[in-house]
Amino acid sequence: MSVPEPLMTDAEPACDVAVVGAGPAGLMVAEQLAKAGLSVRVFEAKASAARKFLMAGKGGLNLTHSEEFSRFVTRFGPRSGDLAAWLEKWGADELRAWVRELGFDTFVGTSGRVFPADMKAAPLLRAWLVRMKSQGVQFHMRHRWTGWSDDGRPVFQAESGRVEVGCKALVLATGGGSWARLGSDGAWVALLQARGVDVAPLQAANCGFDVGGLQGRDAGWSEVFAQRFAGQPFKSVVLRFVDDLGRRFERQGEFVATQTGVEGSLVYAVSSLLRDCIARQGDARFELDLLPQWSPERVQQEVLRPRGSRSLSSHLKGRLGLDGIKTGLLYEVLGKDGMADMQRLASTIKAVPLTVVAPRPIDEAISTAGGVRLEALDARGMCTALPGVFCAGEMLDWEAPTGGYLLTACMSSGVHVAQGILDFLQAGRD
Ligand SMILES: Cc1cc2nc3c(=O)[nH]c(=O)nc-3n(C[C@H](O)[C@H](O)[C@H](O)COP(=O)(O)OP(=O)(O)OC[C@H]3O[C@@H](n4cnc5c(N)ncnc54)[C@H](O)[C@@H]3O)c2cc1C
Repeated sequence: MSVPEPLMTDAEPACDVAVVGAGPAGLMVAEQLAKAGLSVRVFEAKASAARKFLMAGKGGLNLTHSEEFSRFVTRFGPRSGDLAAWLEKWGADELRAWVRELGFDTFVGTSGRVFPADMKAAPLLRAWLVRMKSQGVQFHMRHRWTGWSDDGRPVFQAESGRVEVGCKALVLATGGGSWARLGSDGAWVALLQARGVDVAPLQAANCGFDVGGLQGRDAGWSEVFAQRFAGQPFKSVVLRFVDDLGRRFERQGEFVATQTGVEGSLVYAVSSLLRDCIARQGDARFELDLLPQWSPERVQQEVLRPRGSRSLSSHLKGRLGLDGIKTGLLYEVLGKDGMADMQRLASTIKAVPLTVVAPRPIDEAISTAGGVRLEALDARGMCTALPGVFCAGEMLDWEAPTGGYLLTACMSSGVHVAQGILDFLQAGRD
């Protein structure tokens, strides 16, 4: 097989490989290639590296998950097969070993999630950058990649002006499209599409939703509910959802009410099903069991007990321990009249219907679905439309729930792409 001419050629390239994006995916590519003896330069639009990784550290930095590999890969849904190929070579175990090599311990939390012992991202990132610099990786901050020159070199906008970089291979690891203020703004989509690379539209993943249809309102909570309960958690509820294609979700967990809807770990876990269902039919309706430990019969028995002169709220609190946001939600869904119907109230406690009408904007999402389609890449991770240009990380078209799967897959794709570049450059020499 003939090797296509690299897009970026230069008699005296500034480096072997230019990496765009100093997030976990780009840094992993750079580290692997520097270890293999290549000269690597990392170009980053922001003034410092890995801002989203540092933000992830604020939530404890869930690095990966300790579950069995066969279960781990199912988290990538329709892309499980593709990601299994990367993760078999470099997955959760390799990530934990890599953290150890940097001098940090990890531990497995009760949910099976894996964290650094100190739950922090900054010390890990510092140690990583120090090691990469000692391996010869050169960093160029405040260098925004803006496309290619006429002769095919990557072009950057730096404070000093326009910079063209000669290199034998270019890695794009520019992230998804959420939390743009941390650097990943999705501006790369148009640049790649203009060059014939097939990119699936970016969509919010692990995102919140706006509720709708409550007491005749198109969207949002009542003013009273939003004022009293926005920011408060629903603790230990079961969320059940069956989408229009018959796919089922049922899990116990927590989430919070927002000004206009819902967000948080339990909602993120079902978010891809809700989002896709809304895209197909305009809304998605799920049910909440507010008292998963109680049988429907027991709930009914307790609700129907005479309450004497007690208010309904203190009856529900005294008999079932229901109060605060849970009682608030029942009023929100049933209204005063519905609350007076004790049979209906009892059955609703075990299955509160909630309709969501729109995912929150992509910029608020934890991660992004869509991106460069894996079919637009060859087995090495190189764009078939752009020889010499490789893509890694969240900018690729896969998605996963929270739980450490995102970071693991981003870094694993970095390892995969680094190997692909070594093969590509070797093939060019043969
Ligand atoms: C609040 C929050 C918490 C999270 N917590 C976790 C967690 O606990 N566990 C987990 O697994 N995942 C978590 N994630 C997701 C995880 O951080 C991302 O999936 C991961 O950082 C993506 O890595 P990446 O390298 O592909 O992209 P990014 O980390 O987004 O890095 C891309 C880099 O490219 C740079 N860039 C973009 N465009 C250009 C350009 N044109 N020129 C130059 N540079 C450019 C950006 O500035 C950025 O530095 C969290 C995300 C958020 C928002």
